Amino acid sequence: MPNATRALWSASLGRVVAREPFGNLERLADGVWALVSTPLNGDNTTVSNGGIIAGKNAVLAIEGLNRPAGAQWLAGKAKELTGRWPTHIALTHYHSDHANGVAGYLTESDHPVVRATARTRDLVIERNKPEDASRAAAVRESVLITATEATTLDLGGRSVHVVPRLGHTESDISLELDEPSIVFAGDLFWNAMFPNFVDAIPTKLATSVRALRRSRDTLYVPGHGPLGHVAEYDRYVAMLDEVERAARAGLAAGTPPADLGAKFSLPTSLGEWTLFNKVFYQRAFEAWYRELKPA
Ligand SMILES: [Zn+2]
Repeated sequence: MPNATRALWSASLGRVVAREPFGNLERLADGVWALVSTPLNGDNTTVSNGGIIAGKNAVLAIEGLNRPAGAQWLAGKAKELTGRWPTHIALTHYHSDHANGVAGYLTESDHPVVRATARTRDLVIERNKPEDASRAAAVRESVLITATEATTLDLGGRSVHVVPRLGHTESDISLELDEPSIVFAGDLFWNAMFPNFVDAIPTKLATSVRALRRSRDTLYVPGHGPLGHVAEYDRYVAMLDEVERAARAGLAAGTPPADLGAKFSLPTSLGEWTLFNKVFYQRAFEAWYRELKPA
């Protein structure tokens, strides 16, 4: 990792309450914690970010995380910090690094309610590898999140807005708090890491990221990378715009996505963006071409 990126990653916005090889748990507010995963260190227990939101009557864990051991660890932290094992689990979208560990929340005595959109539930079962019976069983019983309008989950003195969105995949959700203003964005926001466009619908993504931005000071928990405020969020939006410009120019010039990806770099004015995988630029251009090419 370049030094500037390393510095950004280690500059926590919350108070770190637990540090593990796979990530840090940061306290954001009373009853609100974010797991900021650090998979570039080589430990893939969690991979995606996640979180815990506690109310008087219930505790929500955000994301199934990459492996059951990761979910089990987050549930254990919820118990330590709130006195309660998670009662609800929310999956922001189907990708394996956000969903594959979900069975780790279930124990002999604890059966938290898994909440996902119908599409997310189906895609976890249909696409995620390696297939796993306990994961499929856990998500098959999901309480469905409506994909047509925002709903509110009342945890007891703490309301979480569950907002259906799309663009990173065909079905994403964000989980949002009003006071203090905190947004768990799932993979609609990546901070200091270049996003995965494998399932992206880029024009929808562009619309969703603008809709997600709040006009007042807000703490954004990205799907990957460190926490961000509005400056980091806006840098991300500018980066997506840069990718769009390059894609449109590349398509107009007839450049294949692989060639465009190979020669692409982001302007230094946008700061450091770590690539999880070298093929991610190409994936971004492929996603744009899919949308822009006349059928
Ligand atoms: Zn994703």
